[in-house]
Amino acid sequence: MLQDASRLVVKIGSSLLIDPDTGQMNRDWLDALVGELVRLHRRGQQVIVVSSGAIALGRHYLGLGGDRSRLEDHQAAAAAGQILLAHAYQELLGKRDIKVAQILLTLDDTENRRRYLNARNTMETLLASAVIPVINENDSVATQEIRYGDNDRLAARVAEMTSSDCLVLLSDVAGLYDKDPTHYKEAQLIPTVMEITPELQASAGASTTRFGSGGMATKLEAAKICFSAGCATVIASGRQGQPLQSIEDCEPCTWFVPGCSPLAARKQWIAGTLTPAGKLIIDDGAQSALMSGRSLLPVGVMMVEGEFQRGDAVVVANSEGTEIARGLAAYSSEDARVIQGRQSKDIGSLLGYRGRNEIIHRDNLVLMDH
Ligand code: GLU
Repeated sequence: MLQDASRLVVKIGSSLLIDPDTGQMNRDWLDALVGELVRLHRRGQQVIVVSSGAIALGRHYLGLGGDRSRLEDHQAAAAAGQILLAHAYQELLGKRDIKVAQILLTLDDTENRRRYLNARNTMETLLASAVIPVINENDSVATQEIRYGDNDRLAARVAEMTSSDCLVLLSDVAGLYDKDPTHYKEAQLIPTVMEITPELQASAGASTTRFGSGGMATKLEAAKICFSAGCATVIASGRQGQPLQSIEDCEPCTWFVPGCSPLAARKQWIAGTLTPAGKLIIDDGAQSALMSGRSLLPVGVMMVEGEFQRGDAVVVANSEGTEIARGLAAYSSEDARVIQGRQSKDIGSLLGYRGRNEIIHRDNLVLMDH
């Protein structure tokens, strides 16, 4: 199943990346893992990395000990550690002739739809240029109330926003067990989960230490986010030699298998979950372009109704007023009124900035069945 994913997010936990005794990076381990990522990349899979480790590396580098919970220390450590982390990825990918790019996200970048579209567009552009994006939380500006604090859920959001079909959570546990394996010898690994029930969450949440909160609980949260995005999640140990190969070889791990595809989930989200904030009335030419799977260009828009912001959901109706599609607008209603009926090449001079050519990109558009 890993081999079938066209786009996947691989989350690398601090416990794998950092040697707990020295506080330094396990470079050999990372080198081997990067080799695996490159193998996937070369066979045509798009790979996004979500890597932890900045805070732990930065703490060691800055010699910060003492009170581990001080926010300023976290932020300073993240600022120092992130550069070390990024450097390691660049070196290890670069020596294999793969380009790398870093994106640091805050909670708001993934939860706020306008900023979400920015991050999504940037990642699309990088992936289209065969670059491997390396992502972390922007811990040096995030404060306690506005941070994820764990990269499991961040990685799930990244998987969701990029419509990835697989999220790989690599950590120091082999998967989800029916009981805490550190306490029960008879604990059994659960190979496949089709539904995340409250019982399942309760059993993971009740356990402690590395198997507990920040451990399995956030991994289940991540799997849940992915479920509704139509993205499969796999929890596997990164301890063995080639963790991704091991997953492909069906070594023990836990797969969370959603009931629908990322595309179907995204379309359901756009057409079914979001409340439209406005309406675009389009001409016949644009209607037939949409019907044949193309994007909506400003030139085909005859009228803009309502007030909306970039990223909001809007209804697309034909000249008779029949709703034919819904989508996420790439422009606010104010800007949309300025560019309606005009050629995309004129957007820059009309608005004073060069936005996207499409008013709704086809990836953000859902045709309604009539
Ligand atoms: N963003 C944190 C860091 O880079 C890691 C969060 C986590 O361990 O999940 O240090």
